[in-house]
Amino acid sequence: MKNKILVTGGAGYIGSHTCIALHEAGYEVVVYDNLSNSSREAINRVSTLIGQTIEFIEGDVRDAELLRKVFASHEFFGVIHFAGLKAVGESVAKPLLYYNNNAGGTITLLEVMAEYSVKNLVFSSSATVYGDPEILPIDEKSKRACTNPYGQSKLTVEHILEDLTVSDDSWSLIALRYFNPVGAHPSGQIGEDPNDIPNNLMPYISQVAIGKLNKLSIFGNDYPTIDGTGVRDFIHVTDLAQGHVAALNYLDKQTRPSEDGTAQNSVGFLPINLGTGKGTSVLELVSVFSEVSGQTIPYQFTDRRVGDIASCYASADKAKNLLEWQAELSIADMCRDTWHWQSMNPNGYNLS
Ligand code: NAD
Ligand code: UDP
Repeated sequence: MKNKILVTGGAGYIGSHTCIALHEAGYEVVVYDNLSNSSREAINRVSTLIGQTIEFIEGDVRDAELLRKVFASHEFFGVIHFAGLKAVGESVAKPLLYYNNNAGGTITLLEVMAEYSVKNLVFSSSATVYGDPEILPIDEKSKRACTNPYGQSKLTVEHILEDLTVSDDSWSLIALRYFNPVGAHPSGQIGEDPNDIPNNLMPYISQVAIGKLNKLSIFGNDYPTIDGTGVRDFIHVTDLAQGHVAALNYLDKQTRPSEDGTAQNSVGFLPINLGTGKGTSVLELVSVFSEVSGQTIPYQFTDRRVGDIASCYASADKAKNLLEWQAELSIADMCRDTWHWQSMNPNGYNLS
């Protein structure tokens, strides 16, 4: 079995956890990352956790020449493509950067993959491609509509992947639409390490809990939800990592040559939600975090954040049926592991 996987963006939050899951599942990992939003230390810690040095290449997915060298010197079964920028607010201020990095970077990667006949890809898409959903839970056939350049860049890549499979049916391209990834590895050694003041709820809560931030602002308490605060489908990052292993296993099963060694079935373009299927409100999350950490989380209600939606949670059926994967961990697990990581690493990977 060809089991070597190129993991772009593998030094990042989701990528680093996925490297561990891939290793445990018997895949060999090569990480390619420009470290624009991550640290070498994450790779060092992953290597320590798996007891083996991870091959790391510092590079940009827009650098076709370097990618060619990497593909020429390895025989990859496929690519997991995490590399991308993800801050919604920044994408509004710098749309060209987001389209260039997220869409342009993916095009360059696909071109080099085609040159080396590597046709299996797992792409990091997002529930943001659904915009404000008309029906809950959200299934993969729901209308896609984005409201910001970050979301548009993800949707654009989905269209590119789809068009590519129409032009050439030997591609197998899975777009995993993540809901809200949170939590950290149970060892407390790797986790989410935002550069500045966090935009997302869970890292904000944990920085309030550790005393780095004074108070959580809850954006709106007048939504049509259980308690008026926003509802999201939070998913533990280690469950998400397992979802990538399941996607690769699926590709392996589908594309393996038949008995006579000729026929190979590609899967075309396949979008799949990775969520738990359960919605949790902001207040519920704050309450569970407070309980498992033993810390008080001071908060205040403020205006709604522009662009936010009331509720968003997945239909997780397709992942269960096709990939034989489902999320296992609870909101309490997510809060406990986030707190473990935060309290062991108050400054993230910044050791100074
Ligand atoms: P992250 O920022 O921690 O990881 C992304 C990694 O990609 C970083 O290590 C960064 O240095 C690297 N990178 C960025 N641009 C690159 C480039 N041009 N070349 C090489 N490397 C580059 O983010 P994450 O939370 O781990 O997210 C991984 C992927 O999942 C992203 O594509 C993101 O858009 C997507 N996603 C994330 C979430 C979330 O809430 N975390 C939700 C949905 C989708
Ligand atoms: N949220 C909040 N305060 C914060 C950050 C987020 O009240 O400091 C709310 C936000 O309005 C939304 C939920 O928490 O209802 C999840 O927000 P996040 O940014 O983590 O994820 P996304 O909006 O992308 O789903």
